[in-house]
Amino acid sequence: MCQFCHQHGEGKKWYLNAENYSEELLNDLERRRYILDFLPKYGSWNGPKFEEEFQRAWKAPAWLRKFIYRFREKRYQRDHFGQVVPIEDLAQVINLASSIVRIPCICRKINKGRTDAEYCFGLGLDAEKLLGLKEAFLETFQRGPEDGPFDRLTKEEALDLHRNFEKQGLIHTIWTFKTPFIGGLCNCDRADCIAMLSYRYDFRSFFRAEFVAQVENDACTGCRECHSLCQFGAIGFSVMDQKTFIDPIRCYGCGICRSACEMDAIHLAPRNEHPLAQNLW
Ligand code: SF4
Ligand code: SF4
Repeated sequence: MCQFCHQHGEGKKWYLNAENYSEELLNDLERRRYILDFLPKYGSWNGPKFEEEFQRAWKAPAWLRKFIYRFREKRYQRDHFGQVVPIEDLAQVINLASSIVRIPCICRKINKGRTDAEYCFGLGLDAEKLLGLKEAFLETFQRGPEDGPFDRLTKEEALDLHRNFEKQGLIHTIWTFKTPFIGGLCNCDRADCIAMLSYRYDFRSFFRAEFVAQVENDACTGCRECHSLCQFGAIGFSVMDQKTFIDPIRCYGCGICRSACEMDAIHLAPRNEHPLAQNLW
């Protein structure tokens, strides 16, 4: 299990075990401010080009880069960190939400100047149901993030959209807003997602999924339909066997490759049971 599962989920998936979050954290003023400020500020963000920042860090001596990365990673893990999730787990997370708003993607805005790319979702947790909180807390949290001009969605609508994104090859990720609070879902693409960009520069802003994909050899026809969908370069082809294989070292467990396979030959297995992948995050 990932670090957050150990820290916040008592060894189970942290994002499905919100009952483990403490009342102290819920009552934390800094976190409230972070969530409430995030969306209203959203429209005015016009950050520097992130790739330039990563390139600068990349050019720095290894010891300095390591120092910068460690410092930043710690900060991200405290405030706003992600994890890849397959659609099955994502559906369970959506089910935990009391409010869902669809919002334009900040990465696509910063990187491509697009303000109409609505691939992200703000989530409000159902604090009463999940946490059994007292009224004083519920007043602040039940309504979820300030949604202002954004569209509110039902759980079914949100899940349908994610199924469509999956067909387009976008990877589902879940994000904290003051860890371990789940604040949002994104649908990422290597071409324009800042988190995926950071991964290319060896900087970790999200964990791999709690799964790793495997191909059932007997079921695979070698059609290669799944190959173009992997954004992590984990899918290979054995010329001798005329079958596809998945490299567990590279696989992030998003499960997107499954949507291309008519033979249902690709399955997700628990990462913690895979000898090569269990310690890779
Ligand atoms: S899509 Fe399925 S059958 Fe085709 S190569 Fe990939 S795993 Fe094999
Ligand atoms: S091989 Fe792994 S990382 Fe690549 S698409 Fe499939 S599940 Fe995702």
